[in-house]
Amino acid sequence: PLALLNDPTLLKTDGLINGQWVAGSSRFDVNDPATGLKLADVANLGPADAEAAIAAANAAWGPWKTKTAKERSIILRKWYDLLMANQDDLGRIMTAEQGKPLAEAKGEVAYGASFVEWFAEEAKRINGETLPQFDNSRRLLVLKQPIGVCAAITPWNFPLAMITRKVAPALAAGCPVVIKPAELTPLTALAAAELAIRAGIPAGVFNILPADSDNSIAIGKVLCASDVVRHISFTGSTEVGRILMAQSAPTVKKMSLELGGNAPFLVFDDADIDSAVEGAFASKYRNAGQTCVCTNRFYVQEGVYDEFVTKFAAKVKTAKVGNGFEAGVNQGPLIEEAALTKVQRHVDDALAKGGQVVAGGQRLTSLGSGQFFEPTVVANATADMLCAREETFGPFAPVFKFKTEQEAIDAANNTEFGLASYFYSRDVGRIFRVTEALEYGMVGANVGILATEHVPFGGVKQSGLGREGSHYGMDDYVEIKYLCLGDI
Ligand code: ADP
Repeated sequence: PLALLNDPTLLKTDGLINGQWVAGSSRFDVNDPATGLKLADVANLGPADAEAAIAAANAAWGPWKTKTAKERSIILRKWYDLLMANQDDLGRIMTAEQGKPLAEAKGEVAYGASFVEWFAEEAKRINGETLPQFDNSRRLLVLKQPIGVCAAITPWNFPLAMITRKVAPALAAGCPVVIKPAELTPLTALAAAELAIRAGIPAGVFNILPADSDNSIAIGKVLCASDVVRHISFTGSTEVGRILMAQSAPTVKKMSLELGGNAPFLVFDDADIDSAVEGAFASKYRNAGQTCVCTNRFYVQEGVYDEFVTKFAAKVKTAKVGNGFEAGVNQGPLIEEAALTKVQRHVDDALAKGGQVVAGGQRLTSLGSGQFFEPTVVANATADMLCAREETFGPFAPVFKFKTEQEAIDAANNTEFGLASYFYSRDVGRIFRVTEALEYGMVGANVGILATEHVPFGGVKQSGLGREGSHYGMDDYVEIKYLCLGDI
C-alpha cells in the first residue's frame, strides 16, 4: 500500500535527533494490521539516543524561545499547510500501519493538522497580566514563559493527532520537544517529522525517537528521570500513566495525562431514538472502537429499550468490515491479536452471564490474516459483566436496561474512569441535571462525536490530568512567573 505515495520521500524509517536522521544500531518491524505483512523496518532507538535528543532539545531551547511569538506562529502555520498538502499520503501511511479506513485516516490528518493551525494562532495570545498593587510604589505583573524541554509519549490509535495535540502547543509556547511515538505506528509520526523539517522547525527543536516496546520502556525511564525534561505529556493506558507518574515523582515533573476511559451512553425515554442510534453507531464503531472516547457501555431506559436495541442492531448490521483501503469500508482491522482477544473475552463473558447477541459476535476469518471482528451488539447486559468495568477498546456494544434517571447516573459514574460520556434526551431540565451529575471531563448531549481542536479535551478521576486543545491546552506548556516591581 505504500508504493502508491505521491511523495515517496515522506516514508522515513529513521529517528530524528538534532536535525539528523539516525538509523540506530538495530531495527524493528512495522506491520499492516489488515494483512499481517511487513511494511517497513524502523530504527529502534534506545536510552543513549534519548539522552542525545534531550541534550539537543536543551541546546535548541534558547534560540527557539527567543524567537518572537509571530515567528514561531509562521513556522507552525507552514507545518500545518504541509500536513494538509500531504493529506492523501499521510492518510495512506496511516491506514497502512494503523488499519483505519482511508477516509477516516484522512479525517485524522485534518484533525491532527487542525491542532497545529490552532496553536499557531494561539502562539500570539500567550498573554501575561498586570494586577492591582497593594502599595502604590510597586507594580505587580504576571509573566508567562515556556516550561522548557517537553517529552511526548503517544499511542497508536491516533498516530498523528495525539502527536500534534501535544507538540503544537509546546512549540507555540517556545518549548522544544522529544517525541516517543507508538511502536505500532511510527511511520505517520516520522512523515510528520519530515514535514516539520520542511516547514523550518530548527534542528533540536523537534526530535523523534521510534523504538520497539522494550526500548520504549527504557526511553520512558530516561525521559522521566531527566532533570532537563520539565514536562511529560502522555496519552495511553491508565496503567502506563501510573508508571510514568511514579517514575516522574523524583524530579517532580509536570505532567499531562490522557488515559483510559469507560464511556457511558445513556438513552432516556424522551430521546429521539433514530438520532440516538446514529450517535451510538458513530461513537462506538469509529476506529473499530479503539478510541478512549468510544462508548463502552450503553444504558437505555426501559420504555425505549426494545426499540433502541432493534434499530441499533439493524444499523450495525449494515456496517462493512474490511481492509481500510477498500472503498465503502466502515470498520478496519483491530491493531493487533491481543486487542482482538480482549474483545472476544468481553463478548464471551457477556454471553456466559446471560447476554444476547443481536448483531455480530464473531471474529471474521473470511478477510484473511488481519485481526477483524464483527461489529457486535449484545442485549441484556448486566453489571457483573467484565464490559461493565473494563474498557473493551473494540467493536463491542453491551446494552444495559435502566428504570430511573438516578439509577442511570449511578451506573454511569460507577467507574474509576471519567473521560467522555454521552446521553440522549429532549428534556432541557434533564439535560442540565444529567450533565452536572456525570463525573466526566466531557459530556455529549444528543451527539456521539464531540472532539475538535478548540475545545478542552481531557478527563477526571483516573482518566488523567490536564486538558488538550483549546486555549486551555497551552496552560501546561507555560510557567507563570510573578514579578513584584518596587521603587516606582
Ligand atoms: P495502549 O493501551 O494505547 O497501547 P500503552 O499505554 O500501552 O497504550 O502505550 C502508549 C504509549 O506508551 C506507546 O508509545 C508505548 O510505547 C508507551 N509505553 C508503554 N509502556 C511504557 C512504559 N512502561 N514507559 C514508557 N512508555 C511506555
